[in-house]
Amino acid sequence: MLDCAIIGGGPAGLTAGLYTSRGGLKNVSLFEMGVPGGQITKSSEIENYPGFFDSTKTGLEFMDTWQKQCFAFGLKHEMKKVDSVKKIGNHFVVILEGGETIEAKTVIVSTGAVPRRAGFKGEDEFYGRGVSTCATCDGFFYKDKPVTVLGGGDTALEEAFFLSNICSDVYVVHRRDEFRAAPPTLERAIRKENIHFITDSIIEEAVGDAMGLTGVDIRNLKTDEIRHMDNTGLFVFVGQDVKNDVLKDENENFICEMSDLGQVVVNLKMHTSIEGLFVAGDLRIDAPKQVVSAAGDGAIAALQVISYIQEQQ
Ligand code: FAD
Ligand code: NAP
Repeated sequence: MLDCAIIGGGPAGLTAGLYTSRGGLKNVSLFEMGVPGGQITKSSEIENYPGFFDSTKTGLEFMDTWQKQCFAFGLKHEMKKVDSVKKIGNHFVVILEGGETIEAKTVIVSTGAVPRRAGFKGEDEFYGRGVSTCATCDGFFYKDKPVTVLGGGDTALEEAFFLSNICSDVYVVHRRDEFRAAPPTLERAIRKENIHFITDSIIEEAVGDAMGLTGVDIRNLKTDEIRHMDNTGLFVFVGQDVKNDVLKDENENFICEMSDLGQVVVNLKMHTSIEGLFVAGDLRIDAPKQVVSAAGDGAIAALQVISYIQEQQ
């Protein structure tokens, strides 16, 4: 039986693996369906991870060192997709795609989240090369330049405000003329002189070349008129899809307490409502959605796993 099964090999899962194996647990496996690294491997640069200051490196290169370090202390990597997790008695059963089962004393789930795609032409092609879903991460690349924001919710308007303090102008494109965002958030954005609203409109196409995004075509849904803007940054905030499937039972009910947004409710020790089950990173409630915080969560969860196993002995 594994001491700990870690599901998801992004910054949270890799850090949990480092801390559990370096902390003395001999039998820890990380189940990651792809190459470990997580969402940040989709980014062309990373500038806000303290201690790492090399903007020539991609997110993929940044995570390469993590893998080497995290696997150096005995953590095993299983390149497998996990379907679900069950608690039976006082241990867990991890069910892999294809039906294989693995028993574990504890589980850390760190399957992250994926920003929802809006579905316009060019979105996937220029994702990470002009199309972004993270203003904190990528806003600075457009310092004193105009950018486009897509969406009309709290995230879009909060992030538009954040960007307006960095970029010359922020053009918020929203498909309706009413906003889902909370009134104070909307009013603050309206008051900001360099935020401009393009309502009843969608992104028709993100256009660019081999170097990345060069502009956007915006279509007015009422007139069908297409307006081209040369903004090289396009921030898409149309909601998030949390990767919480592994926590559903055969009846599609969650095995632990969840928020209305599908995020896992945890306390400051990353404990879920089920003893021995921990959640770290973007999957948890109130996640700041940053590499540094996901890594911090992973370390906290791992230290809790070590204490939990010691208490059980
Ligand atoms: P993730 O990184 O989402 O990792 C989850 C992992 O779990 C994935 O590798 C996935 O394959 C795996 N997984 C999911 N389901 C299963 C399953 N069923 N079985 C097995 N494996 C599974 N943050 C910053 O701090 N700075 C930045 O500059 C920055 N730039 C970003 C740029 C982009 C384009 C994106 C998308 C995000 C960026 N972020 C940035 C945010 C940051 O990447 C995330 O906050 C962070 O990666 C979250 O880590 P995580 O470990 O919680 O989850
Ligand atoms: P959201 O509230 O679901 O808003 C998504 C926005 O994107 C909506 O305006 C929606 O338009 C638009 N949209 C969706 N799909 C689209 C598409 N394919 N093309 C174009 N536009 C599209 O998501 P969110 O802003 O990420 O917020 C998620 C939740 O977190 C919400 O409950 C929100 O209140 C909460 N939140 C709270 C705070 C806060 O309290 N400070 C901050 C951030 C988020 P429509 O409006 O037309 O549907």
